[in-house]
Amino acid sequence: MESSIIGFSRGDASAKTFKAFNPANNASIDVNYAMASEDEVNDACLLASNAAFEMAQFSGNKKAEFLNALADGIDGIVEDLVSVMTTETGLPEPRVRAETGRTSGQLRMFARLVEAGHWVDARIDRAQPDRQPLPKPDLRAMLRPIGPVAVFCASNFPLAFSVAGGDSASAWAAGCPVIVKAHHAHPGTALLVGNEVVATLRKCSWPEGAFSLLFGEGRTVGQSLVTNKMIKAVGFTGSRSGGRALFNLANAREEPIPVFAEMSSVNPVFILPGMKLEDIDSFSTGLAGSATLGVGQFCTNPGIVFHPAGEFGEQIKTSYVQKMKKVGAGVMLHRGICDLYHKGIQKLTSCEGVKVEYRFSDSVEGEGSKAGPCVLSTSVNEFLADSAMMDEVFGPSTLLVAYDDLAQLIRVVSTMEGQLTASVFGVETDLKNDQGLVDHLEIIAGRILFNQFPTGVEVCESVVHGGPYPATTDGRSTSVGTGAILRFARPVCYQGFPEEWLPDELKEGNPLEIERCES
Ligand code: NAP
Repeated sequence: MESSIIGFSRGDASAKTFKAFNPANNASIDVNYAMASEDEVNDACLLASNAAFEMAQFSGNKKAEFLNALADGIDGIVEDLVSVMTTETGLPEPRVRAETGRTSGQLRMFARLVEAGHWVDARIDRAQPDRQPLPKPDLRAMLRPIGPVAVFCASNFPLAFSVAGGDSASAWAAGCPVIVKAHHAHPGTALLVGNEVVATLRKCSWPEGAFSLLFGEGRTVGQSLVTNKMIKAVGFTGSRSGGRALFNLANAREEPIPVFAEMSSVNPVFILPGMKLEDIDSFSTGLAGSATLGVGQFCTNPGIVFHPAGEFGEQIKTSYVQKMKKVGAGVMLHRGICDLYHKGIQKLTSCEGVKVEYRFSDSVEGEGSKAGPCVLSTSVNEFLADSAMMDEVFGPSTLLVAYDDLAQLIRVVSTMEGQLTASVFGVETDLKNDQGLVDHLEIIAGRILFNQFPTGVEVCESVVHGGPYPATTDGRSTSVGTGAILRFARPVCYQGFPEEWLPDELKEGNPLEIERCES
């Protein structure tokens, strides 16, 4: 029997337990996980709240030491992760190894960020005692940690957006304790990483409460966590219904708190009229690769493609179907996701004017949580007439939509919900003649791409993985890249404080030598 990690202790085995399933055959995995009790959730939150005071005073170097050590620790358990994670998620070994590298890479990226120190956005307004008609006081501001953060593991990134993934790494880097709610589909993976986090906290002399890991259902454990008054922010990646439920709960609290939920996006692709005939083949190859990567279970999966109507469009369709026919079925992350994928396709095919161009044999249904690619098509007028076609279908399916002129595309974009990405394909002159399409895309999307596919998100300084609702619940944020730290910090201004008292970042002599905005 395994139980939650509450600070440096293990939780009690409560009455209710659950098991994970192997999605390749839907057989249960023979380990019981005890769901956290209400008391355990409260204990974890109290420990986190106490740890928050100490952690807020940590220097960038102390935080970097922990983040780097954790990165090394996670790299060191990759063989265990390969064995447990492949069984729990159906993800192949190379993906587990790559995601391990991405996870440790993210931790090291945040270590570099806090070591450099500029992220705190230090602003200094020196006193002007002789200013007329009133003297100006000394004001100095910087970003400070927001407090304990609740993080929900993502089903589709069991490492990079789970226990020590981007949300946790950015929260620790900001100086916040983290309480993680494990995903029901991969508790063993969560526990392996959770044990590594605890060992690293001890090694780096971080306080108990800087981390806890809770097992249990979202509707009980997850909701108790979000409504606990010690929690000051939430990081989430998952369904629109789950993210929205948590957002509503957080806003209904006596003290509302920010929820950074990354939810649903169809990541539209627009083929402009300038695309050349000879480029169709490589475009189709690239699109099929992007749409079926990881059995289509990426947040940035390109789900809807707009192409010119007529002969050119027919050639794109034929070429794309050929490519998709070469892709087999794959194991999806869990039964729930697989069922939703099949239901999503069913719903799309029942829309007026939608034609099935290709669907991988339905016979894979029943063979574990397997699913194959699907290509559907419609016209832009049918698309505009039925908003159900804009819903995310999480999996390897593509809806091809034929348009006649650019004005129709502007109408489409004006009615579209917020997106993580929007991609435009064509030649440079298309951008000059686009009638404002890209300007419209900027309003609805967090990342706009030219002649590139949206999957394979680069983790770096300038990436934006966010977007207006329902891509996220806060379109001002990114959950990937160094900008993710800003979600878990808030500005504090110190007015009139003596030099010795001020944080190093704001001291007159700038001992940390960070970039500051000064006047
Ligand atoms: P999910 O059902 O939203 O679950 C994510 C986490 O939130 C889980 O820990 C879950 O708890 C919890 N949760 C769900 N509903 C909740 C609620 N009402 N209150 C409190 N907690 C709640 O997502 P999923 O299992 O990863 O996948 C389901 C669907 O989500 C997919 O089919 C797909 O449509 C969508 N999805 C989208 C993205 C994206 O980035 N666009 C990524 C992943 C999934 P439990 O552990 O108890 O389930």
